[in-house]
Order: sequence, then structure tokens, then C-alpha cells
Amino acid sequence: MMSELKALFNRLLDHFGEQGWWPGETRFEVMIGAILTQNVSWLNVERAIDNMKEEGIMEPGAIRRVEKERLQELIKPTGFYRQKTERLKRLVRVIERYGSLDEFLQIEDLRSVLLNIKGIGSETADSILLYAADRPHFVVDAYTKRILERRQGIEGNYQEIKSIFDEELEESVPLYKEYHALLVELGKNYCKKNPSCEGCPVRDGCSYGEGSEG
Ligand code: SF4
Repeated sequence: MMSELKALFNRLLDHFGEQGWWPGETRFEVMIGAILTQNVSWLNVERAIDNMKEEGIMEPGAIRRVEKERLQELIKPTGFYRQKTERLKRLVRVIERYGSLDEFLQIEDLRSVLLNIKGIGSETADSILLYAADRPHFVVDAYTKRILERRQGIEGNYQEIKSIFDEELEESVPLYKEYHALLVELGKNYCKKNPSCEGCPVRDGCSYGEGSEG
């Protein structure tokens, strides 16, 4: 029997279509985006990434060399720009320790290495693993937690929610990539803080939505 989470994926895909995530021209840009998007909407991240590209610093060596103050100015649209500048500088220092970006992305214990970088938590690390390194790590964000809690009454910490997806889905990088993107789409458009259950494409079978007025 198809798992509930796989069935949910199929319904979301039917409704929203393929999302083709993550936005980014290169794997390095995906990694930068994963850090810059912490606590801010993607539109702000796009502005910061455009600034960095115009400055010609979308590669590890250039980020290491650029003055901190200049980098702060370029990524200002993303908020928390001082902390994020430190995070980017720390990330490229670690990447360079392993030689090239390719070598870095191939290291066996990449998840622990990423998590050891101050300012990189589970969600950012898994975003990098899945979308930049093409490794099967499901990304759990606030939308994922909210949707699972409302639809299935499932609550848990990051690792617990991640394990549920790991257990119920076949291990597949394209599936994990697409699923996370579709949950973001559902969260942004319907399963918001104040949810718009009426018209939600997966209201049927949702314990919260079926009991709500709108
Ligand atoms: S029906 Fe409502 S609570 Fe359920 S997933 Fe849709 S928007 Fe969220």
C-alpha cells in the first residue's frame, strides 16, 4: 500500500506541477543561497545573490578575499548580514581546507562537517547536502513541520520528522528535492500561519482542514 506521505506527494505534484528546485546556477550558488535564506524570504536572497554576482565574488576564493564590510553591504537585503558574512567566510575557509568545491562535496562525513560550522544548523546542512551535493537528505523546514502537524497530527523535532520521511519514502534525491519544494509551495499558498483551507488541494484527508470553516 502506498504510504500516506507518498500519496501526499503525488497530490501536491498533480496540483502544483514540478518545481525544479533549487534556484541557483551553480552548486556553490545553491550553498550560498542556503545560508542567506535563513530567516528571510527568497526575494531578498535573490537581491543579495545578484549583488554578489555583479561584484564577481560567487566563488570560494573571492569570498575569502573580499573585505567583510563590502560583503556585508552586498548581502544586506537578507538581514542578519553581519552573522551571515561570518558564516559565508567560515564556510569558504572549510571548503578550501578540502581543496576544491568538488572534493568538499564528496567527503564522506559532509553532514557533520557542515554542522560543525558555526551558524549552520540541520536545515541549512540538509539543503546543501540535497541540492548542492545531490545526497538523499530530506530537508525539514517550518512549513514541513506545520503541514505534518495539521494534516497528520505528527509533531517532533527536526530529526524525528526527517526520519518519518526517510522511513516512508524510497531513498531518492529527485523525490526529496521535489517534495521539499512542493511542501514550501503548499505552505506559502495555503498552509500559512492562518491557513486557507478552503481551496487547499490536499484538504481531503487533513484532520485540521476537514474540521475548519474556511
Ligand atoms: S487543509 Fe488547511 S491545514 Fe490542511 S494542509 Fe491544507 S491548508 Fe493546511
